[in-house]
Amino acid sequence: MLRIRAGRVHPVTAPSFEDGAVLVDANGRIAAVGPNNRVPAPAGIQARQFPDAELMPGLVNCHTHLELTHLGGGAKHDEPEFLTWIRRIRELKDATSAEAFYAAAVAGIRDCWARGVTCVAETGSTGAVMRALHDLRGRGIVYHEVFGPDPAQCSASMAELEATVRPLRRLEAPQLRLGVSPHAPYTVSAPLYEAVAEFARLEHLPIAVHVAESKEETTFVRDGDGPFATALRARGIMVQPQHCSPVAYLVQRGVVQRGTVCIHSVQVDDSDVALLRKVGASVAHCPRSNAGHRHGRAPLAEFRTAGIPVGLGTDSVVSVGDLDLWAEAGAAGLSGNDALRALTIEGARALGWETEIGSLDVGKAADLAVFPFAALRRPSPPFAAQLTVVRGQIVHQISAP
Ligand SMILES: [Zn+2]
Repeated sequence: MLRIRAGRVHPVTAPSFEDGAVLVDANGRIAAVGPNNRVPAPAGIQARQFPDAELMPGLVNCHTHLELTHLGGGAKHDEPEFLTWIRRIRELKDATSAEAFYAAAVAGIRDCWARGVTCVAETGSTGAVMRALHDLRGRGIVYHEVFGPDPAQCSASMAELEATVRPLRRLEAPQLRLGVSPHAPYTVSAPLYEAVAEFARLEHLPIAVHVAESKEETTFVRDGDGPFATALRARGIMVQPQHCSPVAYLVQRGVVQRGTVCIHSVQVDDSDVALLRKVGASVAHCPRSNAGHRHGRAPLAEFRTAGIPVGLGTDSVVSVGDLDLWAEAGAAGLSGNDALRALTIEGARALGWETEIGSLDVGKAADLAVFPFAALRRPSPPFAAQLTVVRGQIVHQISAP
C-alpha cells in the first residue's frame, strides 16, 4: 500500500483542493482520495509527502513511436519534403537491430514516466514497446503497424501480421493491450485495410490509424495523384482515385469505426467531423508534429463541439524533438485545468479507458503524477515529475536533495 500527500490535489472529475492525499490499496487501486485529515493513514505503509507540489492523475500520451526514441538526437525533423522524410525514417529503421529497438523502447518509456506520463498509445512495427512495457510493467496500448501499398501484397502482409500478433498477445495484461494500426492510406492498399479491419473485429483488437495528416495524402486518396501516387506508380503499383476524403475512405473500408483512434486528422472538413462523430471514432491530436511538418492545424474546437473524444499525442521524437505533453497542450491553445483535463480524462476517453484511468476516483487504477506547483500554471520549460506511479507502483521519483 502507498499513501501520497501533496500541497494540492487535482482529482480532475471533482474540484481541486489544498493539502490532500491519496491512499492506494494492495491491488494498485485508489482506496481513498480527499483532504489529508480525512484519508486513512494505516501504520507501516509506504508514504510520500510533497507539500510544495500537486498530485494529479498520470498523463496520457495518445500517440507515440517510442521504438524510434534512439533516432531523436541526430535525425530531428528538418526535411521540408514529407515523402523524403518518411523515406529517411524508413532507412534509419532498416539500419536498427532488434536489441536497439528494445533499448529505445525502454528509454522512451522511462522518459515518459519522468514526464509524469503513465499511459502511452504506441504505434510501431517491431513489437519492442509491447515487450518493454510488459517487462517494465508499464501501461499502454501498442497498435502493431501493418504496411503493404500493393494489393498483391495483401495476403503476405496479413500472414506476417497474424504471425507477429500471436506471440505479442501473450504479453497482454490488465494494464497492457495490443491493437493494430494499418499505417496510412499511401502505405496500405484498400484490400489490406479491409482485411486488417476484419482481423481486428475477429480478434477484438482496437485500431489506430494515421489519417488526414497531409495535403499530399488528400490528393492521393481523392485524385490518385501527387507525390505519393507518383512514388507508388514508379514501383509498378496501381493507384486509383477514391473521389472522397481520407476519413470517408477509411470509414468505407471499415477501419475508422467505433473506438478507432484517428491520428492527426488535420485535413478534415465539416462532413469528415460529422462522420467521425457518427461512427464513434476518437482523435489523437498532435499539434507540434503537425506544425513541424507544416501540415496545418486540426480543428480541435470543432471536434470538441461535436463531442468527439480528443486526446493529445506527441508523435515521435523524430517529429517533435521531445515527448513533452504540456507543450502539446500549449500548442493546442489549452492551459490550466483545461490542459489538465485534455492530458488526463480526455486522453483516457479517446483510448476507451476512462473507466480505469484519467482521474483520481476511488476504484480506478492508481496511475498518478506529482509535479512542482508551477508546472500547471507555467508549463514551459518542461517540468520533470517528482513522482510517477503506475497501478500503485512507483516507476519514477526524484530523490530529495
Ligand atoms: Zn505517428
